Amino acid sequence: MEADFETSKIIGNKFYCPSLTQYTRRRTITVNIGDLPLGSDYPIRVQSMTTVDTMNTEGSIAEVTRMVEAGCEYVRITAPSVKEAQNLENIKKGLLAKGIRVPLIADIHFTPNAAELAARIVEKVRINPGNYADRKRFEVIDYTDASYAAELERIREKFMPLVKICKEYGTAMRIGTNHGSLSDRILSRYGDSPLGMVESALEFLRICEEMNYSQIVLSMKSSNTQVMVEAYRLLVQRLDEEGFKPYPLHLGVTEAGEAEDGRIKSAVGIGTLLEDGLGDTVRVSLTEAPENEVPVARALVERYNKRPNHAPIEPIEHIPINPFQYTRRVTREVNNFGGLNVPRVIADYSSIAVESHEDLRSVGHFFLPVPDKWAMNDQGADYIYSGSRPIPFMLPNGLKEILDYPVWLTHEDQKNKLPLLSVKEFSNEPQLHPSLNFVKGDIHDFNDDFLDHFNDSGNVVFVLTSENAHAMPELRRLFFRFLDKKITTAVVVKRPYPAATSEILPLYAATDVGGLLVDGLGDGIWLEPQFEVDVEKESQLKTAAEFNSIAFGVLQAARTRMSKTEYISCPSCGRTLFDLQETTAMIRKHTEHLKGLKIGIMGCIVNGPGEMADADYGYVGMGKDKIALYRGQQVVKRSVTAEKAVSELIEIIKEDGRWVEPS
Ligand code: SF4
Repeated sequence: MEADFETSKIIGNKFYCPSLTQYTRRRTITVNIGDLPLGSDYPIRVQSMTTVDTMNTEGSIAEVTRMVEAGCEYVRITAPSVKEAQNLENIKKGLLAKGIRVPLIADIHFTPNAAELAARIVEKVRINPGNYADRKRFEVIDYTDASYAAELERIREKFMPLVKICKEYGTAMRIGTNHGSLSDRILSRYGDSPLGMVESALEFLRICEEMNYSQIVLSMKSSNTQVMVEAYRLLVQRLDEEGFKPYPLHLGVTEAGEAEDGRIKSAVGIGTLLEDGLGDTVRVSLTEAPENEVPVARALVERYNKRPNHAPIEPIEHIPINPFQYTRRVTREVNNFGGLNVPRVIADYSSIAVESHEDLRSVGHFFLPVPDKWAMNDQGADYIYSGSRPIPFMLPNGLKEILDYPVWLTHEDQKNKLPLLSVKEFSNEPQLHPSLNFVKGDIHDFNDDFLDHFNDSGNVVFVLTSENAHAMPELRRLFFRFLDKKITTAVVVKRPYPAATSEILPLYAATDVGGLLVDGLGDGIWLEPQFEVDVEKESQLKTAAEFNSIAFGVLQAARTRMSKTEYISCPSCGRTLFDLQETTAMIRKHTEHLKGLKIGIMGCIVNGPGEMADADYGYVGMGKDKIALYRGQQVVKRSVTAEKAVSELIEIIKEDGRWVEPS
């Protein structure tokens, strides 16, 4: 949808955080949520949401207990109507009887009367400004200034009673915008955009400030990581520019999905903002038990405990990109890098001795003895770096080998191998490959002296590294230097990680590389496994497979290269009408070969259709054993039984000509 208001006309400056180079938490006011204050004077808090029915008091207490034991600091519980809001009292009492004083947050959509009751019982209420005072009609109405103002007046009347109660009871509030559930009013004026998301929250925030109520936390969630990052940045910038108080931020990516994909997608969004010091509480939304979300959120936030001591990075005086709107850095095409090519994946085998065809299965290349040829899957690496150990057999067409420069120089098949040079080697005007050369260095190697003399028309791709603990911002600093100097050479981002850190690796890689990709920076990803000595080959190959899968996962989560089906599945809550984990697994089993397709799997029809905003197809619970199937935002079948729903969904995909048989 076209926005009437262009972001660029409204935004005065592009700075949205305390520093783009020195890690610093953004200063915020403190919001008191029960006994546990939130804001920049306190550690970044971790929270999650229950999945059992709120009317199931014992089940809720048991689930909250598990969440608290896992390290959850605030617990959110859905209150779809007054009766659930009332039952929060029983849950709270039951928890207190067990000695659990965790602050509870009531999650409200559409029901001001439930919010007004819950605000008297729990420590915080979350309202969605897209549906607190509005029923979604999916209508685009042309508002005049007068009719828009009248709508705002209607919101005031509906919202003010809640603010009064929150003030009276000392209850905090989150104004939590979701990209997928913006009101028709906001959509008609600002479009389906980060600016619309921000304005949606500001309309409510202005009422709170007028009423002298400031115990507020803000969030700007989306399942699209680019939109999510842009919206939070824009929010901070607008708060500063309009003179609002610096309210704390709650970070989250909605409907991130499950398993590795869900973790990577969450980290691309949340990690990117944490790097810039934004965010005071984090919720990772996975289609898994809520206690599984907690260690992921902890791993994300604990990374910053020692970050303020990182090596200095030269400050940035102006930002040569638009941090509020995705634009890919313009690069010159060299071979299949840069230009309009998708970002490439380089598999690092420099520590793995490649002896047979089988060794390449880990990175998606399979040798088929009959019919005696290579095949690759959708996650076949594009390049393989073998360092100083050239691979002793002919590689498949889709896989090119990179060697260290001295080894390449003496190799008998220089034509089919590609050299990796240090900046120093490259500066000595050496013999080069006629079509593609990789030049590796960090911010100190690619200094002004080098860049001012660099011929930006050769067959070169840069490989950027960083030793700085604040790596993403240092690498970004270097990209900004390329932009300022109008250098259009494609860039691969290379990051080393210990091979043994498999749980945190997806999160760190997603943050370090994904944080650049969401700003359109980067034409390739190279994750280097650092093995301890004496690691068995089998284990090395397993690591190579993990790193390869994470590399493709990061590209997909940053929406820069689709190599698999994307599942936008909600984390489930007390409104959920079927077993989401089981259903997601079943849908995945039948559709995971449909590369690039986005399938929404949502627990309820109240919020689901909005939340899966940019899915191609949707599977949404509408009642007991009743599923609604969607094509985009349109319902195409209603009340399908669960038994038939997946085959009916496949039929719809087939009708659209988007089905392929699994190979
Ligand atoms: S879409 Fe899922 S998480 Fe959101 S309200 Fe519905 S069931 Fe709950």
